[in-house]
Amino acid sequence: MADSPHHHTLNDGDRVAVIGGGPAGAFFAYFLLVMARGVGRSLAVDIYEPRDFAQLGARGCNGCAGIVSERLMQTFAEDGIELPPAVVQRTIDAYVLHMDVGSARITPPHQDTHIASVYRGAGPRELRGRAWVGLDAYVLDLAQRQGAQVVRERVNDVAWVAGRPAVGPSPDQLTRYDLVAVTSGVNSAILKQFAEAIPGYQPPRTTKTYIREYFLGSATVDATLGNAIQVFLLDIPGLEFGMLIPKGEYVTACLLGEDMEGDLMERCLAAPEVRRVVPMLSADRPSCQCAPRINVAAAEHPFGDRVVFIGDCAATRLYKDGIGSAYRTAKAAAATAVLHGVGADDFRRHYLPACTAIEQDNQVGRLIFALVSQMRRHRFARRTVLQSILDEQGRPGRLQPMSAVQWDMYTGSGSYRQIARRLLDPRLLWSLVRGGWGAAFGRWLHRRSATVFHVIGHLSK
Ligand SMILES: Cc1cc2nc3c(=O)[nH]c(=O)nc-3n(C[C@H](O)[C@H](O)[C@H](O)COP(=O)(O)OP(=O)(O)OC[C@H]3O[C@@H](n4cnc5c(N)ncnc54)[C@H](O)[C@@H]3O)c2cc1C
Repeated sequence: MADSPHHHTLNDGDRVAVIGGGPAGAFFAYFLLVMARGVGRSLAVDIYEPRDFAQLGARGCNGCAGIVSERLMQTFAEDGIELPPAVVQRTIDAYVLHMDVGSARITPPHQDTHIASVYRGAGPRELRGRAWVGLDAYVLDLAQRQGAQVVRERVNDVAWVAGRPAVGPSPDQLTRYDLVAVTSGVNSAILKQFAEAIPGYQPPRTTKTYIREYFLGSATVDATLGNAIQVFLLDIPGLEFGMLIPKGEYVTACLLGEDMEGDLMERCLAAPEVRRVVPMLSADRPSCQCAPRINVAAAEHPFGDRVVFIGDCAATRLYKDGIGSAYRTAKAAAATAVLHGVGADDFRRHYLPACTAIEQDNQVGRLIFALVSQMRRHRFARRTVLQSILDEQGRPGRLQPMSAVQWDMYTGSGSYRQIARRLLDPRLLWSLVRGGWGAAFGRWLHRRSATVFHVIGHLSK
């Protein structure tokens, strides 16, 4: 295809730079090479990644809670990607929601649901035992198997040479490319340079998060958490929710929210709700910890001529399924580059809609989090929600609208739009009425009135 000032294509033998070998970069390189080969083109792809994912601790890890949603597991399977047992630390079979008013276990809505907990790197800094295969090493290997070359350098400089982007570790070591994919995540200084070089590009808004790893040993993890992710809705300003995730012999503690203060992790681990599950965590020394930033509002204009931003440095789902967003934006960007072109117009028309859809869904998500935060402030509302989940979970095989909302909220399975639709469903209102009745009159009376509700429920169908 011909190249004009307004339309650029990737031709046989062209060179592509990918800045960052996390999920967005590795999946982009993987799909780009597979799709290009499918249309008879051979590309040279360099992935710049300074981190060695075989190293323990922060040197080999892109800090993350490491939950791979059921939706993403299904998408992987459809694309022929199967996470090997060495990567999956635990297969999660339930979530347990904890509040000051009690706890409720939520099992998956479908029996064949699989959620995985993974490590992104080789394991915590003070790993006891053998290093693991992290998700990032596995995905980077997939890209390398398709022919991508990994360059163990950090990109510190960007320039334009004869109408092409050039990147490299220093100004005198720049290499010219036909396309540059920026997949550096949000914890990278390189975005500032791109913001100056690409008209309209504004990096995402970010906020600080907290992650810690604790060694408990398999027997204690089994006895305390089992294969269930523990979600904590605590009354702490700024904190949306905290999680404890079982991983092999370890537990990952993760806090998500905006404007969280410094000693928040200590306060959370000392909270009675957390101590009820794992009393020893607040006194234990973590094996590893970090405070990475997370994308809370999408980038503006994530593309330019021969440059595209993918994954966290473009758009990602709010507080969940970031790996899935990296995967989807990577695939959309690769399809655009191979099938349409690499000009700004091509990315605007064929790639931007994937990012916009994520951000529009997040707007609904923000409303839902505002609703949850209101619910957290009122004891009766908390008891009502908890009671309705307990009721639903006590009646397996029946419709469980409140459980489904909670499941989709924290597993990353459903979109925020789907959750909003569920919230507006009259059957959820009915579940809340039942829960409210139980919360107001106690479990004793509630159990006796269950038959009455059962009859009314049937009559109202
Ligand atoms: C606390 C927390 C918990 C999370 N939990 C989950 C979860 O449970 N499930 C989930 O799906 N998502 C989760 N996420 C989100 C998920 O981590 C991200 O969405 C995902 O990692 C984005 O992938 P990425 O490839 O865009 O960026 P990253 O994973 O950040 O990868 C970027 C890569 O680029 C490299 N890089 C950076 N700068 C340069 C440079 N100048 N030159 C070369 N290379 C560079 C980095 O070394 C890194 O390897 C969580 C995030 C946080 C902060």
